[in-house]
Amino acid sequence: MYIYERYILNHISFMNTTNLTNCDYEPIHIPGKIQAHGFLITLNDDFNISGCSENIKEFIAITATECLGKHISILDDLLGKANSPSFIVQLIQLYTTRKGFEPANPYLIEIGGLHYNLILCKQTTGYLLEFENELSDLDLDIRDNIGHSLSEILSDTDLSQLLDNAANEIKKIIGYDRVMVYRFHEDDHGEVIVDVKNEGLESLLNIHYPASDIPKQARHLYIKNLTRIIADVNAKTSDIIALGSTMTMAFDLTHSTLRAVSPIHIQYLKNMGVASSFSISIIHKGQLWGLIACHNYSPRFINYKQRAASRLISQVLSSALSYKQMELDQVRIADLQAAVETLSKQLLRNDTVDHALFEHDVKILHVTESTGAVLFFDNQIYKCGQTPDDDFLKDLRIWLNEYIHLDVFSTDHLPQQNPLAIPYKDCASGILVCRLSKEMGEYLIWFKPERISTVTWAGNPEKPVTIDDQGIASISPRTSFAKWTQTIALTSEPWKKTDIKCAMLLMDEVAFAISRKANEVRVLNERIKKAYEELDAFSYTISHDLKNPISSIKGYSQLLSRNPSLNDQAQYMVKRIEEGADKMKNMVGDVLHYSLVGEYSRKPTVIDMAKLLNDTKDELLIASHSPALSINILNTIDLIGDPTMIMQVFSNLLNNAVKYSKEAKFPEVTVACEDTGETVIYAIRDNGIGIEAGDHGKIFELFKRSDRVKDYEGSGVGLSIVRRIMDKHSGKIWLESEPGQGSVFYVAFNKELSGVH
Ligand code: ADP
Repeated sequence: MYIYERYILNHISFMNTTNLTNCDYEPIHIPGKIQAHGFLITLNDDFNISGCSENIKEFIAITATECLGKHISILDDLLGKANSPSFIVQLIQLYTTRKGFEPANPYLIEIGGLHYNLILCKQTTGYLLEFENELSDLDLDIRDNIGHSLSEILSDTDLSQLLDNAANEIKKIIGYDRVMVYRFHEDDHGEVIVDVKNEGLESLLNIHYPASDIPKQARHLYIKNLTRIIADVNAKTSDIIALGSTMTMAFDLTHSTLRAVSPIHIQYLKNMGVASSFSISIIHKGQLWGLIACHNYSPRFINYKQRAASRLISQVLSSALSYKQMELDQVRIADLQAAVETLSKQLLRNDTVDHALFEHDVKILHVTESTGAVLFFDNQIYKCGQTPDDDFLKDLRIWLNEYIHLDVFSTDHLPQQNPLAIPYKDCASGILVCRLSKEMGEYLIWFKPERISTVTWAGNPEKPVTIDDQGIASISPRTSFAKWTQTIALTSEPWKKTDIKCAMLLMDEVAFAISRKANEVRVLNERIKKAYEELDAFSYTISHDLKNPISSIKGYSQLLSRNPSLNDQAQYMVKRIEEGADKMKNMVGDVLHYSLVGEYSRKPTVIDMAKLLNDTKDELLIASHSPALSINILNTIDLIGDPTMIMQVFSNLLNNAVKYSKEAKFPEVTVACEDTGETVIYAIRDNGIGIEAGDHGKIFELFKRSDRVKDYEGSGVGLSIVRRIMDKHSGKIWLESEPGQGSVFYVAFNKELSGVH
């Protein structure tokens, strides 16, 4: 297996470098020569002869040098047109006045009793005249047959049958030994997908040929000039003689039918045993989809009409192909697009991105033809189908971030590009990636498993490289076409354009959903902020306005208690009213404090924590009346913040620590702090009643107290105030506590962000 992988890599690098030395650069459209089965004349715009093939003398009684520089009318007599002076000029003028000068529309002409096709072509400057034999040994009436052929071809709706019919019909028209349909793959190498041949010939069906067998510029010519005949690989070529200093190489023979063939290609055909070759281009969406490649093993010329009929068949085939391909694509794309639409609806509902893509019947997986899909989003990995494990996925994300600079990337041979993927070839030989955010490393990824395939090449596809005296590398065509089988591993089925298109559609939908969600969060934040402000204003007003009525209740109940006419029971009730009023007054005071936290936005100042803590300690010791109580301040680090608020934090925490440890035999409260680099953390520890784990979150909410503290005074507001102040200072608060084990409250102040906001 490994050898094959190396082979593929070698082959790819070979094709990209050495391959280009002489094949891809050979100027095959300006060879300065033509094939032997006709003669060529070039005219300038004044109809004077600017170039002529040397072999003209073999067809008419004049030499090339005698023609050069003369007006084309000197050939009238020799071409049997003495009675219609300057008939070629008239012919050209007739063609020119017609809408669209048909480049290869032939004119039948008789010279010395033989029929020739005169093929006229307009060049950038001047004209190209080619005289080509009309001879044909086929008795088939092409005009009669072509209609029948076309209906035969189109009688099948199946694409491969359509191609098969076309090859059969063309074989009938041109009478060649073999007619193949040769299809180009994405990497430009070709494969024989139809092989209609004479009995006894070896089948070439499904044989692959490397891209270098048909070099780039030859493929370009196949798009411009749809048919190409090589009448006899052994026939001598004829040079084109040019007028004066004109280079014969200057004649662009792109549209010529007689253009001589590259010696490399001639050698290639000879090595294959082919004597004549004819090819017709199959074009799909402006690209060379394939060729109808026809071979004859003895020289065989096919005339213009036969070639034109074959070309017509190929053009009809091209259209049918486009239509069929479109039909197939449309069915596929309709399914995939329907999945994208469903997912986008799911995204539009008030759903999270991961839920919308993974938790419904239609999932991210259905958007492409894949076997697994992954979403990297919000520091999470979401998966469905067959995917690699999280360890590899994390590595893959790093690799994508580092090496892939495209928003959309696909490969059908990931393990060859990233060796870490080799152990995951069963699910990740192919990946299609859409990037949501490079900064956040967020991606949508689809996976395809390994597909081991066997390719049979027509001989070892590496052409031998020879180095000449000057050290220049060149390639000579293969001499052996013995079948050479190759196993291709570590690759998946290729990704289709429809897959990529639908993945990109989904990527847009997800990006839109993310930005919409981000906006919603911003709006919600704004609303919460506003609600907080309103709540603060409300709490402040209520607590402020309640102060007076509470004082009145207290005042009147005190007056009432002094009334001697009240019996004991009434006295007791009045006392409870007074206590209630006190409690209410405290609560209102606390709420007032709570609401005021939102108000403070003083400039942060450095706070002398030793002083603050020692003052608080002294007050607490005086107020507690407990000689057993000890408060230890182990060390202090100054903080930056709002002095009043920071004082409230420590006063509340220390108060609680003292309050909830008063039942201990030796109540002990300790304050210590630590600088972790980024934060300063204070810990307030007590040996009091402790807090149940279930209450750890609840006690920071307004008015929430644990059930165990019914006998302790308090309103449940203190820790809410502390938490709010910590938020204001971009700090954190948390605790460690168990019932009966005391409590430790931690407050962490971020040194960078501790300024109040
Ligand atoms: P209050 O102490 O006025 O009830 P707080 O908001 O300060 O209100 O505290 C909320 C609740 O947290 C308390 O009622 C108590 O149940 C629990 N608590 C706070 N600090 C301590 C502590 N050091 N030890 C035990 N329980 C505590």
